[in-house]
Amino acid sequence: MDGVKLPNGHSAVSGRLQVINDEKKFTPDLGEQIEKWGLLDAGFGYNIVAVFGSQSTGKSTLLNRLFGTSFDVMDETKRQQTTKGIWMCRGKDMDIMVMDVEGTDGRERGEDQDFERKSALFSLASSEVLIINLWEHQVGLYQGANMGLLKTVFEVNLGLFGKNTTNGRTLLFFVIRDHIGVTPLANLQATLTTDLNRIWESLSKPPELQDRQLSDYFDLAFTTLPHKILAADKFEAEVLNLRARFVNKDSSDFLFKPAYHKRIPADGVAFYMENIWEQVQSNKDLDLPTQQELLAQFRCDEISTVALAEFNEQAKSQRRPVEAGRVVDGLGGMMRAWRSDALTRYDRDASRYHQGVYKRKRADLVAALDATLSPLFLGQLKNLHKTCLVAFKKEMLDGLHGEGYSFADVVSTARERCLGRFEAGAKEALVEETDWTWEDEMVSLKEEVKSVADQCRKDETKKMVNLIERNFKKSIAEPVELALNKAAPDMWDNILRTFKQTLDKAESSYLTKATSFDCTDEENAASLAALRRRAWQALRDKIDEQTAEPVILGKLRGHFEERFRYDETGVPRVWKPEDDIDGTFKKAKDDTLDLIPLYSKIQPVDSSLEYVLPADSIAVPSDSLLGEDFDFAATLVVFTETRALELTQKFRREADAYYVEAKRSTVASIAQ
Ligand code: GDP
Ligand code: MG
Repeated sequence: MDGVKLPNGHSAVSGRLQVINDEKKFTPDLGEQIEKWGLLDAGFGYNIVAVFGSQSTGKSTLLNRLFGTSFDVMDETKRQQTTKGIWMCRGKDMDIMVMDVEGTDGRERGEDQDFERKSALFSLASSEVLIINLWEHQVGLYQGANMGLLKTVFEVNLGLFGKNTTNGRTLLFFVIRDHIGVTPLANLQATLTTDLNRIWESLSKPPELQDRQLSDYFDLAFTTLPHKILAADKFEAEVLNLRARFVNKDSSDFLFKPAYHKRIPADGVAFYMENIWEQVQSNKDLDLPTQQELLAQFRCDEISTVALAEFNEQAKSQRRPVEAGRVVDGLGGMMRAWRSDALTRYDRDASRYHQGVYKRKRADLVAALDATLSPLFLGQLKNLHKTCLVAFKKEMLDGLHGEGYSFADVVSTARERCLGRFEAGAKEALVEETDWTWEDEMVSLKEEVKSVADQCRKDETKKMVNLIERNFKKSIAEPVELALNKAAPDMWDNILRTFKQTLDKAESSYLTKATSFDCTDEENAASLAALRRRAWQALRDKIDEQTAEPVILGKLRGHFEERFRYDETGVPRVWKPEDDIDGTFKKAKDDTLDLIPLYSKIQPVDSSLEYVLPADSIAVPSDSLLGEDFDFAATLVVFTETRALELTQKFRREADAYYVEAKRSTVASIAQ
């Protein structure tokens, strides 16, 4: 089957690829081809074999028979020279990559040995088994072309694996063709071995490798094959036996021993081979450890990039909700899964490469993964913090609805639930193997919970104090009005006693409720002081209301009228000329005027009542409910002296009017 020339100058026929063409160019399609062969994910589970030997010694024929490949075989009728190059096939139903190296033996045709050398380097750097194909009659021709080729192979191998003998072993498998059978294999083998050692001795080795033996680098194996045409049946049978040695992993003469494997993961073969060829082509020193490291860097980066891309796609799905403030359910589980998926993917493929590089790139990958996850984690914490706090407030306010709740219980229940919810959420979001922490956020949440609870307690206390104050006002209104109307000498004693009793009740009512508020002693003292001052203020307001000018004038008028316009039995007087209007008037007026000093100052007969509110009982801290200090003593004054005088004046005028009216009525009665 003829190859199809591709635009890139390489030929490709179904499943067969020209890796290096006759212009010594490397194919760009090897990676893709390996994927098509289904070997990309084989890891180390594949083998590479290459064939070397003179032109037209039946190399391609042998490979096709052994591996079911489709390499070009010279057309017998045309005897056309095949071109130079390296072809590759996958063995049929085998995890084997087979390389057919064409035109290796330049000497035979007197050509330059450049390609021979380069293809030897290339093959040795990757192959486990190198088949050396030769005619029986070529054996023992030490000066022959074959030996030159082997010398090149040895030299090149020394350069490649000189110092490093791990991963550097290769099997040289001599297949002696057209074996007639006169000379037994053992003799041929001995001859070849002697020749090989002579070649090895004749190599000029660098000083540090002087003592190295051929066997330090190569295993040798030998086999013969009958004449393909003269003993066709035997030939086919032997080929089948030989095939078994390449395929049967369990058999004792299995050729692909693990020691020969060049440890290039299948997904790195294309990159590796291309790089090797580039180095070879530019005649640079081919340093395999460096090549392996370069390969590892390239592949680990590629594998990491793929893993990271898939990971980023997953992580992206939750970025929006987190940024929008949502607490994403099971985010931690997702993050852990994405992360471990990405690392598992990376490890599976990359761990086959140079360990130092693999580990370094893994650390980079971990850093990249965590850098993406960290904002999600922090966002989740922040959102958790917010929602837990909101839920806490709501729960607390709900709990404070209605009667009979214990503030302390409501707060501690809500607090516990809030912190528990946060901790559970934070722990869920945590990814092990990171240095992430949530404890700091928890500390700040605790502080906020406390300040919300404190504020709420203050508000509740305030509400309670307001309620008590309202009840207090209601309770004192009537008794105070009554007492002020009577204007008895012990009027203030009554009022202050009532005040004291009502206040005592209010205080004990506060204290009963306050026990559940978990208030500090200081806060209780402040609330009580405020309550007392407000109670006092309420009393004073009531007194002011009852002593406002029209009201007090009314009271005075009433008092006066009772004494002037009514007699002792409460009957309205009808003045007769003989009545002592002047005397009665004076007495009633003086009696009434005496009330003004009584109303002017809160002054109980029982002087102990003056201290109904000791100064220290109403001293409050500056941030209290009532604010600025007040002068209790000053509040005892109801009318200033000026006001008392004014009132006196006004009342006198009114009384005088009554007097004039009384006088007139007698005149009128006389006139009648
Ligand atoms: P290559 O150039 O080494 O790949 O050789 P080919 O496989 O193209 O075969 C070259 C010629 O040798 C072809 O005409 C084959 O038919 C013939 N040939 C292949 N195998 C044998 C063999 O075992 N013995 C002999 N005598 N001829 C063979
Ligand atoms: Mg060939």
